[in-house]
Amino acid sequence: MLESLRQPLEDGRVTIARASGVSDFPARFQLVAAANPCRRGCPSLDRCVCTPTERARYLGRLSRPLLDRVDLHVELPALEPGDVQSPAIGDATEAIRARVAAARQRQRDRFHAGGIRINAAMSPRQVRRFCAVPAEAERLLAAAMTRLGLSARGHDRVLKVARTIADLAGADALTAEQCAEAIQYRGLDRQWRV
Ligand SMILES: [Zn+2]
Repeated sequence: MLESLRQPLEDGRVTIARASGVSDFPARFQLVAAANPCRRGCPSLDRCVCTPTERARYLGRLSRPLLDRVDLHVELPALEPGDVQSPAIGDATEAIRARVAAARQRQRDRFHAGGIRINAAMSPRQVRRFCAVPAEAERLLAAAMTRLGLSARGHDRVLKVARTIADLAGADALTAEQCAEAIQYRGLDRQWRV
């Protein structure tokens, strides 16, 4: 059933075919999904006692084309007992809200004539135009495509994430560091190839 998410994740539409005819519906949504790192549910991938084959078989249940459409793969290690009591780290919600609002405004300004409002909606042509990267980042991306087995779609998605990281930092030009950070969010592509 997960596989049926592929079309709406890509096109923002879902097509249902029945004997009586074919209907097409809008289906634009944000997918947030969680999974254990392995069948035994080990606390983290670093402390996983499963064999590489077991892990690959478990993660293999998530198909490559589906993972390809998920922009951010983030590992959340299990909390230690002491972590529950300590105060939360990182930015306060209000500070994050202001940064996100500013980043979205930058995107609206960028695309004011382009018919879209957010980086995620960029066409391949718009990615070429708005996500130009320095030569160093080109090399990083080429290496990631080989090492992680990134498809052309995955490549463009990494650039859109890098563009968003730059927008959150209030930066106009993409840097190699921002591309490297975006590539790092493709963690499951790496695990897949264990
Ligand atoms: Zn494990």
